[in-house]
Order: sequence, then structure tokens, then C-alpha cells
Amino acid sequence: MGLVVQKYGGSSVADAEGIKRVARRIVDTKKRGHQVVVVVSAMGDTTDELIDLAEQVSPIPAGREFDMLLTAGERISMALLAMAIKNLGHEAQSFTGSQAGVITDSVHNKARIIDVTPGRIRTALDEGNIAIVAGFQGVSQDKKDITTLGRGGSDTTAVALAAALDAEVCEIYTDVDGVFTADPRVVKKARKMDWIAFEDMLELASSGSKVLLHRCVEYARRYNIPIHVRSSFSGLPGTWVSSERPASLASRDHVSQGSQGGSPVEQAIISGVSHDTSEAKITVVGVPDKPGEAATIFRAVADAEINIDMIVQNVSAAATALTDISFTLPKSEGHKAMEALSRAQTVIGFDSLRYDDQIGKISLVGAGMKTNPGVTATFFEALSNAGVNIELISTSEIRISVVTRADDVNSAVQAVHSAFGLDSDSDEAVVYGGTGR
Ligand code: ADP
Ligand code: ASP
Ligand code: MG
Repeated sequence: MGLVVQKYGGSSVADAEGIKRVARRIVDTKKRGHQVVVVVSAMGDTTDELIDLAEQVSPIPAGREFDMLLTAGERISMALLAMAIKNLGHEAQSFTGSQAGVITDSVHNKARIIDVTPGRIRTALDEGNIAIVAGFQGVSQDKKDITTLGRGGSDTTAVALAAALDAEVCEIYTDVDGVFTADPRVVKKARKMDWIAFEDMLELASSGSKVLLHRCVEYARRYNIPIHVRSSFSGLPGTWVSSERPASLASRDHVSQGSQGGSPVEQAIISGVSHDTSEAKITVVGVPDKPGEAATIFRAVADAEINIDMIVQNVSAAATALTDISFTLPKSEGHKAMEALSRAQTVIGFDSLRYDDQIGKISLVGAGMKTNPGVTATFFEALSNAGVNIELISTSEIRISVVTRADDVNSAVQAVHSAFGLDSDSDEAVVYGGTGR
């Protein structure tokens, strides 16, 4: 029996009952003969509550202190979980990210893991313990400051530890039964996939399906770690995310396809529809239409260490030779970006800035898209029939994304999901917990 890494998200450990339930699952895994390393998130919406608190104190908190604050959430759940396991008569020890050897760069709030040295975890396992590790946090290599890996970062901690410890599998336990063709909170008829390839999962994750974080999938693909996404509230098998479809799925798959009454989703053109309401749009109004302007704008944003997503430049009005440039970015970076651009206003020479956080993004993802010319037309027809207005468009080889009003997102996702025949004709997808925040 090999080593298993299990990650439990915030909704799975939302209260004392949740912690005790998760502790029982962990002990059961240990009893089956596995060595178990558990990565745990902060309880429920603790991280959001800490962020709200910080914002009341300072609109742009210092990165170092912000990370110090947020990592407190995972410290609470890791200690409580270790206590609950001990209470069941098994040995457990909790570790902060730093103690677990999660070494990162020093970019606060979205640090990248650069090395994992899990010596203390190995020792704890060898001594018969279950090791509990605080997710989402590490320590910077140069300054030895505490860092966080960005929202949802516990998924990345789990895969990174699975790679460093050469685990058999990385199980991600959450509040739904696996990866669905759309967010089951929005589309009740979403279908659970038995398997999804790393590539498709990467696109779904990067376009907003927060069931798995993009960086976590990237890491898993690089080290070829199979991920099993499943519910901590049910005993059902979940979704495998891996390079090849696991051979063991063949028979079970047949049954589940039968019960879902549909064709295998993984052979379809489309793997899913994702949405994201965590972004905002900034419009730089009245930019001189000459070479170098976009470069100056995006240099100012990049120097503030802000990642941008979609960009559109309006055709310049001949009379004024001025143009507007709009781009999207995480809402959490909105303040910082507006400040950086305001500082650069005289150099760039634009008229004004507009900030809009009432937007949403809908993306259609599927490897079959590049060879099926009808996909784009069906996508836009579905949006049009749902009365949804489109503000920005971007595409990749296997994805089309549009930005709309935030209010339109749910109806847009439902319309697109139906238009591509993804609606399941069996039971509704179950959401066991969480607030969807
Ligand atoms: P955790 O607290 O376990 O990390 P998250 O809230 O980060 O959980 O992720 C699980 C949530 O992801 C689900 O409750 C669901 O609302 C959302 N989600 C979005 N897209 C999908 C999808 N395609 N399949 C499954 N869940 C999805
Ligand atoms: N607690 C962190 C968050 O809410 C990390 C995680 O849950 O993965 O983003
Ligand atoms: Mg998550």
C-alpha cells in the first residue's frame, strides 16, 4: 500500500462536525494500510472573512502582513484536524507550510513553489503518524518570509507534496462529486466526468472552474501525478484528471454512462462551460493612437506585478486619433492597477480611466473545437438567444471566452450548456456544502 495525499477544501471542514467527519475518512484510509498526508484549507469562508477584515483596516495591505494574516486560517484547521484524529486513537502531527518544506519565491499573495523539502513529513510518516499540512502557504527562499500561493492554493500544495513524496495519487476532496461539464451550482443538469485530460482541465481551470486551480493542474501535468477529485460528503468515485484515461475506468465508466443516459463526454467536441466573476475590467480612455502606447500601459501594469487576462483596443476615431484600450484582471488587483496607471498618466497621456467590476466571463472549452467550424456559431447563437450582450471576446485553440454583464452569467452558462447538448437527462448534480463564495 502506497502513500496517499488527500486535500480537504474549506467547505469540507467548515465546522467542528465537518472536521470530525473528515478525521474519520482519514483514519479509514490509514486503516486500509496507506501512509497518509493530508493538506487542509481554512475552515469555510475564513479566508474571505480575513480578507474583508484586512480591507477594513487598509485598502492595499502590505503583501507580507496580508500573507501572515491569511495563513492563520489554515493553521486553525490543521491543528483541529490533528486533534480530531488523535481523539479517534490515531497519531497525527500538524505542520505549517514552512515546516513541511514548501519553499516559494517571494511574490506575496501569489507565490510560486520553487522547491519542496518534506524531510519532517517523511519522519512523521516513518514514525507512524498521519501528517497534516496547512495548505496555501510556504516560506520564501531568500527572505524566509511567510507567503501564500493565491486563492485556492491548497490544491497546489497537495499536488506539490504528492510529487515530492512520490505519492500514488493526489485526492482532492471537495463539496461536489467531481469535475462537471459546468459548475453544478449554476447548471443543475451538469454532468460529472469520469475522466478529463490535463489539457482540458487546464483550460477549464484557467477560465474559472475553481474546482481545481490552474497551477495545481500545471504542476500535476509536469510531474505526471494523477488527481482524483471527489466529494468528502459521499462515498462516490469522482473524476480522474490525468494524461491518459485510466484503464480501471472502463467497466465502471460503462455503468455510469448508462446511468447518466448520455454519450461519453470525453469523446465529445466540448468538455465543458466555465464561468468567472472574479475579474474586473479597466478601460484606458483616450490613448494616443501611436506605436509604443500599449507597451507603456502594460509595462506600468506589469511592474505592479499584476497579471492581465483579456485585452481589446477600440478602433481609433479618425478625427481625434485617440483610442480606448480595455483589459480584464482579477478584482483583487483592481486598486493596485488603477493606482499604477494613474501614476503613469502623464507619461502615457490618456484622458481617463474607467473601472468596472460588474462583469463576468463565460468560456467554452474542448479539444474538438479546432476541427469543428460550427462551434463558434452555435456558441454565439446560444448567447444571442439568451439575450446576452458581449463586451470582449478571446480565443485559444481549444477555448472561446466572452465577457458579459455579471448579471447575465448564469443564464449565459445555462444556454451554452444546453446548446451543446451537455445537459444530463438523469438526476440533478448534488452540491453538498459550501457557499459558492
Ligand atoms: P474547496 O473548498 O473544496 O476548495 P472550491 O469552492 O474551491 O472548493 O471548489 C469547489 C466548487 O467549484 C464547487 O462547489 C463548484 O461550485 C465549483 N465549480 C466550478 N466549476 C466546476 C466544475 N466544472 N465542476 C465542479 N465544480 C465546479
Ligand atoms: N484558504 C485558501 C482560499 O480560500 C486556500 C484554499 O482554500 O485553497 O483561497
Ligand atoms: Mg478550492
